[in-house]
This record gives sequence, C-alpha cells and structure tokens, in this order.
Amino acid sequence: MAAKEKLTIGLVAKPGGTLGYKTGGWRTFRAVIDHEKCIGCKRCADSCPDGAPYECAHDGKKKKFCVDYDYCKGCGICAFECPVDAIEMMKEEK
Ligand code: SF4
Ligand code: SF4
Repeated sequence: MAAKEKLTIGLVAKPGGTLGYKTGGWRTFRAVIDHEKCIGCKRCADSCPDGAPYECAHDGKKKKFCVDYDYCKGCGICAFECPVDAIEMMKEEK
C-alpha cells in the first residue's frame, strides 16, 4: 500500500495564531530586559516567534522594550539576539 493511502483526512476546525492562544503558560524561563543596558534596537521584538517584546516607553533618547508575559514562552531567542546582553533568562517561579 502506498504511503499516501494510509493518511487519514483531518480538519482543523478552529485554526488560530498565538494571539488567540497565550503561549506564556508553559514556559520554564522568562525573558527579563534590563532597561539600563537596552539600546532600543528592537532586535528582540523582530526575532521573537511570538511577538512578545514590545515598545513600552521612550525616555526622549531611546525606546525601551518590555515583554508581554502572556506570550513569552521562554525560548531565549531574544536573549541570544540582543547585541548588548540586556536580556536575561530567569527561571520561572510558579
Ligand atoms: S534586542 Fe536588546 S537592546 Fe535591542 S531592544 Fe531588545 S533588549 Fe533592547
Ligand atoms: S524568550 Fe522567546 S518567546 Fe520570550 S520574548 Fe524572548 S524570543 Fe520571545
């Protein structure tokens, strides 16, 4: 029997993105941004698969970014990408 004949036809009844499904509930680490180090480059927001970092303030010279913990799943990509090591991955306490 050919492989394709073994496939079961399925249906995704309610497709959704991460906006609909909060991904922060299953993380073991959380990304914490040090605003003293942050230079506002936005690389964390651009690299995050869940769009969790967002511009939360501007001090007149540079943007400051915060993390929406409803969506941060603790993957650490932002910390890896940050050019000034402003993001620390902290163990989640539950
Ligand atoms: S990548 Fe780092 S320096 Fe750039 S905005 Fe994010 S926290 Fe700030
Ligand atoms: S740890 Fe992952 S999910 Fe959380 S803000 Fe950074 S890149 Fe996004």
